[in-house]
Amino acid sequence: MNSHRIAVIPGDGIGPEVIAQGIKVLNHIAALDGKLQFEFTYYPWGCEFYSKHGRMMDDDGLDQLSQHEAIYLGAVGYPGVPDHISLWELLLKIRKGFDQYVNLRPITLLEGAPCSLKEVTREGIDMLVIRENSEGEYAGAGDWLFKGKPEEVVLQTGVFSRMGTERIIRYSYETARRLGRSLTSISKANALNYSMVFWDQVFEEVGREYPDVPTSSYLVDAASMFFVREPERFEVVVTSNLFGDILTDLGAALVGGLGLAAGANINPERKYPSMFEPIHGSAPDIAGRGIANPLAAVWSASQLLDFLGYEHHGRSVLKAIETVMTDGKVFTPDMGGRASTEQVGNAVVEALHALQ
Ligand code: ATP
Ligand code: MG
Repeated sequence: MNSHRIAVIPGDGIGPEVIAQGIKVLNHIAALDGKLQFEFTYYPWGCEFYSKHGRMMDDDGLDQLSQHEAIYLGAVGYPGVPDHISLWELLLKIRKGFDQYVNLRPITLLEGAPCSLKEVTREGIDMLVIRENSEGEYAGAGDWLFKGKPEEVVLQTGVFSRMGTERIIRYSYETARRLGRSLTSISKANALNYSMVFWDQVFEEVGREYPDVPTSSYLVDAASMFFVREPERFEVVVTSNLFGDILTDLGAALVGGLGLAAGANINPERKYPSMFEPIHGSAPDIAGRGIANPLAAVWSASQLLDFLGYEHHGRSVLKAIETVMTDGKVFTPDMGGRASTEQVGNAVVEALHALQ
């Protein structure tokens, strides 16, 4: 029996509702496999925990989580708890504490998914965006000088270390090679005359070790246009923290929106656990009504399966999501249907069984 220890943080709002469906799917995969088993440990951390205990997670939270191979997270954040607390004291604490410097966002248009583009072939959108997740424009460096005075100046400094830039670019080349796909670097060297010149240089340097991987480079403004006009140009994409943040939201809109968008925060060295989450938030406006779309959480579960080395199971889960969408009968309201979160989860499970 192959057993995997997974920490589950359902979190706030619709987090627990969608995570329950992801767990259900994972348990069915384990049952279908016969030799695979998950040991889930639940952590009640998040904003409700904060309102009782004055902190988002236990003080030794990271130690507790480090006992697991991976973390499966719903969403954190709720009205009344400021973002700088919910975000910094849980999500970013985990991402930074566990050096999850790779943010993996699949942008794949599944059969039956609502696409915001009119003219696109179904095979046309299938990319994997790799976003630098630990430094760059979001390093938090800068200064606020002469506050409130006429000569006021605000500086926001991007931090691109050689170590940080090389490792994300090397990871991307490795991924492109493994998948047999091309690699595109997205930067902006014509305007960001230090950071992005350096980024391009490292992309070229590391690329010499991967002569078998076809590459291209785009400026971020041109890339945004081509994401919409010719998304089939892109296969594996590597980009900085800020550009990746923006481009992946654009990408999510192309392939079905927030209810379908999954993301993984990876520590490739596996020194620490990696974290899998739907990218949507806690959606307080629909929380507690059982109508949240669980497909993003289910898709993250598929990424978790890939990460654990069960790519064939990961693919089955995606196929099952695709079946639910092409059938077009069991949709939550965000996708134009009337089904509940649980009904969509059940439909995915049924599709999984039918695939066997
Ligand atoms: P955060 O600050 O945590 O990102 P947010 O309010 O910016 O939260 P979300 O919570 O992601 O963003 O929600 C944005 C909108 O999308 C909300 O109106 C919400 O109802 C909708 N939404 C988000 N996720 C889902 C989902 N899984 N199913 C249905 N609707 C969703
Ligand atoms: Mg948001």
